[in-house]
Amino acid sequence: MKKLERRAILCLALVLVLLGGIGYYVTRLVEYGGDWVSYPANKHIYNNGYIAKGVIYDRNGKLLVKNNSEGKKVYNDTEGIRRATVHVVGDKVGNIATGANIVFADKLVGYNFIDGTYTTNDKSRELYLTIDADVCRTANQALDGRDGTVGVYNYKTGEIICMVSSPNYDPNNPPEVSSDDDSGIYINKFISNRTVPGSTFKLITATAAIDTMDDYEDFTYTCKGFEQYGKAKVDRVKCAYPHGTVDIQKALEVSCNCAFGKLASEVGQKKMEEYTQRAGLLGRYSIDGIMTLPSSIEFTSGGVSLAWAGIGQYHDLVNPCSMMVYMGAIANHGEAPIPRILSKMKLPSGLPGSVGDTQMTDELINADTAKTLARYMRLNVENNYGSYNFPDLKLYAKSGTAELGDDKSPHAWFVGFIKNEDYPYAFVCLVENGGRGAEVAGNVANQVLQKIIGND
Ligand SMILES: [Zn+2]
Repeated sequence: MKKLERRAILCLALVLVLLGGIGYYVTRLVEYGGDWVSYPANKHIYNNGYIAKGVIYDRNGKLLVKNNSEGKKVYNDTEGIRRATVHVVGDKVGNIATGANIVFADKLVGYNFIDGTYTTNDKSRELYLTIDADVCRTANQALDGRDGTVGVYNYKTGEIICMVSSPNYDPNNPPEVSSDDDSGIYINKFISNRTVPGSTFKLITATAAIDTMDDYEDFTYTCKGFEQYGKAKVDRVKCAYPHGTVDIQKALEVSCNCAFGKLASEVGQKKMEEYTQRAGLLGRYSIDGIMTLPSSIEFTSGGVSLAWAGIGQYHDLVNPCSMMVYMGAIANHGEAPIPRILSKMKLPSGLPGSVGDTQMTDELINADTAKTLARYMRLNVENNYGSYNFPDLKLYAKSGTAELGDDKSPHAWFVGFIKNEDYPYAFVCLVENGGRGAEVAGNVANQVLQKIIGND
């Protein structure tokens, strides 16, 4: 009897193992089936390791890449478009891992969990991205060979209209790149990089100050060009020149480091951490499945390093996409749409395929605080950057000139949004080692935004 019981238990255990295994397999199949099917060893849909199906277009139906049955890729006729969109689309041999032609391979070959690869005939699926190839081209021309990135998205719908990373190259004529190359040529910097934000980070410090200081409107500070946090020379926060007496709005407008160091100190480590987290900088966004790199910000308990961290220096490194989304949240009363890049899909039958919908972030900034900050950002433009430098744009912005030390030319940043019923766009512009933020990156932003609103 005992023997029988033991065998019964053993059988039951085996059944449980089997069921567990099936469950595990099915879960993995649902989760990764698309990746398995679109794995380059699958001969049905690849030729010599290259995807042999599907066409990718921009939002206006301009060809970005066509995968033909020999496994060759046919790109847009215009070199300027090929260069500007190489990080969006991907190259011929898969060096750019976040390119749409790799990431959306399962969509291009038509895999889904129920039907498997149901388009194994010769007809191609067509994928339309939210990107505007001409706007990307303008952005790349404005970067003019300098390293950096430009991202622009619709803060109502989440559609990314421009995403350019530099250095870039013509996928039809790829350069020789040595194994120790550190230029980031294969990286989409908008998605997969993080960089010293400089004074653009003052927008987060300002948010924390407005929310947590009861008397933020009464805050004043007299800048004499530097502020000591200890006896040593390294304990000093500096400005380019003495700004005199400023309130929080004026401090943002003239980008007074000393005042913002003071604000960060008053807000304190815990709240600075909390507001950086809340602004969405430390998280990752999924751009239709392409994951962004989180920012990395380190606040100390006090002293000169906390002050510098609140100014966007010290160890601060910000991901450009997350900064752009924060601009979207300020423009959009606190919440922003999560960026997306898939616009629509056409099946070989001509019927539409399903792509994701607009999804919103949590509240990244309180609605009233967003309103106050937007007012300040408008005053930055009117009183400092000059509205005349941005004709026909109702622009709200903050510049950043991120110091890198060692006599290196600083990174130029310009971030913000425009208010326009037809063109609700938020943007981030970074020109590495470009020089002064407002002049250099501001000029790039202006060229791109003019193109978007139709002022060629
Ligand atoms: Zn100052």
